[in-house]
Amino acid sequence: MLSIVHRNIGWIEVICGSMFSGKSEELIRRLRRAIIARQKVAIFKPKIDTRFSDDHIVSHSELKIPSKVVESAWDILEQSLEAQVVGIDEAQFFNNDLVLVCQKLANMGKRVIVAGLDQDYRGEPFDPIPQMLAVAEYITKTHAICVICGNPANYTQRKTPNKERVVVGAADIYEARCRNCFEPPEESKKEIKLSAGNRGKAQETSK
Ligand SMILES: [Zn+2]
Repeated sequence: MLSIVHRNIGWIEVICGSMFSGKSEELIRRLRRAIIARQKVAIFKPKIDTRFSDDHIVSHSELKIPSKVVESAWDILEQSLEAQVVGIDEAQFFNNDLVLVCQKLANMGKRVIVAGLDQDYRGEPFDPIPQMLAVAEYITKTHAICVICGNPANYTQRKTPNKERVVVGAADIYEARCRNCFEPPEESKKEIKLSAGNRGKAQETSK
């Protein structure tokens, strides 16, 4: 009886963290277990992520699992009607419609597992992951190891001066850093100082 009830309830799981923190590895691990249990699994990644393989999700440690490449979040909805479990990798490359789509899938009774970067190269929240965290039932934050000092790393350091938000690459362009060793680009440092100043003012006026 419990199993019947459980099958009718969907939910959202989010796996997030910096690059090299094992997000794809963890996603693949969860999806493999579902496949072993003979559940119907549909796996997706955005068209922009062409690293390593076109039709597989591949982790940096070269684990891989077959996946479909889609252009928009709505393609996921269309292509996973039969699935019991829906896996989505590199979720930060979708727009905010992904949140709506995942909500719909979970409401249909599906288990939805989303993996993605939660901060961009400036250390700022990377949409739509913050919104996904708000509506998710389960959240796993993965950590890499800081290449400078060996502490747990929560930031992705870009090693090139490129200012575009999306620059696809791996260890050639990025490395994991902890809070102390992370060096945000010059323009973000100014923004952080500015917003800290505003917060002080707001507290003063509320007194
Ligand atoms: Zn460090």
